[in-house]
Amino acid sequence: MAERYTQKGVPGPNAPENTLTIPHLRAAIASGAASAGDVVGQCFRSIRERDGEIHAFLSLCEERAREQAARIDGMAAAGDALPPLAGVPVGIKDVLMVAGLPATAGSRVLEGYVAPYTATAVRRLEEAGAVTLGKLNCDEFAMGSSNENSAYGPTRNPHAPDHVPGGSSGGSAAAVAAGMAVASLGTDTGGSIRQPASFCGVVGLLPTYGRVSRYGLIAFASSLDRIGPLTNSVRDAATVLGVMAGEDPLDATSSAQPVPDYCGLLEREEGVNGLRIGVPAEYFGEGLDPEVRAAAERALDGLREAGAEIKSLALPHTRFAVPAYYLIATAEASANLARFDGVRYGYRAPHAASLSGMYRETRDGGFGAEVKRRILLGTYALSAGYYDAFYKKAQQVRRLLAEDFLRVFGAEVDAIVTPVAPTPAFKLGEKTEDPLAMYLADIYTVTASLAGICGLSVPVGCSAAGLPIGVQVLGTHFDEETVFRVGEAIERG
Ligand code: GLN
Repeated sequence: MAERYTQKGVPGPNAPENTLTIPHLRAAIASGAASAGDVVGQCFRSIRERDGEIHAFLSLCEERAREQAARIDGMAAAGDALPPLAGVPVGIKDVLMVAGLPATAGSRVLEGYVAPYTATAVRRLEEAGAVTLGKLNCDEFAMGSSNENSAYGPTRNPHAPDHVPGGSSGGSAAAVAAGMAVASLGTDTGGSIRQPASFCGVVGLLPTYGRVSRYGLIAFASSLDRIGPLTNSVRDAATVLGVMAGEDPLDATSSAQPVPDYCGLLEREEGVNGLRIGVPAEYFGEGLDPEVRAAAERALDGLREAGAEIKSLALPHTRFAVPAYYLIATAEASANLARFDGVRYGYRAPHAASLSGMYRETRDGGFGAEVKRRILLGTYALSAGYYDAFYKKAQQVRRLLAEDFLRVFGAEVDAIVTPVAPTPAFKLGEKTEDPLAMYLADIYTVTASLAGICGLSVPVGCSAAGLPIGVQVLGTHFDEETVFRVGEAIERG
């Protein structure tokens, strides 16, 4: 493997493996060493070479991308100041709307649907000079942890094509890992950015709930859904977040908190000296693969050497997180997915004998097995008579989980470090027969989702079999800055 260098040119074992990072690209475009058109052309060449096997993209928009790149090259030729993402080729998870492009959410029910408007997060990236390459594969309606629930066939892990890339943002992680895009957008409801980032060896950020507008995101579970970047470095994740974060009048849950200068902070190189890092015992228990444990411990050793204080702590409600998540997420999904009825969007069952028959046949033929399972579970959890026992109870547990975090952040620790997933990427087909085994693998990621706090997945090396392993850094609400600081220290190794 080529020697790895951090953004500052300092060698480090966990530094990005390739030079496909935003500062490298900017420097190349600004100096004239490469044009945005060259970069985009190179991405489409990589896609043609590799995506037949990987299947990260569901649709491409080459002509549109070349026009966007030409605009950037025009600016560079005129000597204009280049915007922060000038010429950065990005892929967009297919649950996000980009006007004029398909938006299937990985579902047959949206086959042929073309987005009539653009999601705020994507609009902000494009306004900052990013070039959209196409739409990325994902589990149907973002429900899954392996990308095997996509109606259009699974994405494969670029590091080991017989393994899953993780999910649900598997296409987003694989596209960046395979060098087909420099950054991508994914969504994370219970781990769907962090886990595929870990499985594919890239950086993935779960921003605080409210930090990034959800306008233009096809909803799965609205109180949990978040949009975030997958990139080749922590610095790149900070750059992309800085561009897309901030209040949006089109999403009432977006926060008015000012957006800090994340990259400026990283440039000050404060490091982690004196930071208090918590290690919750509940995340290192039964079921944790020894190589994943060793990787997390390596990351913690590095942080200790860099001057951080490592402290054990307790998050006692952790074990209730998976059941609470799978009640709340399915309940919200059952309501959100009611709109796919064959009347308003996408697929409509042909030849139905009656209106109710058309609804039934559209939903029966349009949704895959996992989506149907979740609609049924969620409808049950919300039904009169069971609401208090399931949905309300889950909401109470959610509060307790959030309080676990709020008790320790500030008072005891500045950030928390845990594994991202109990194992490295598993084989295609390994868990498809056992939904419960698939759900249990979300054990370390659903907690931050329920609590609304931010989290980052950073690569920390590979298993003996060559599969990437990531470590998760958690921070309190709107404290992405600390999470990036810790992440960059881990990246340096
Ligand atoms: N794997 C989790 C699920 O299946 C998380 C999905 C997500 O974050 N979108 O619900």
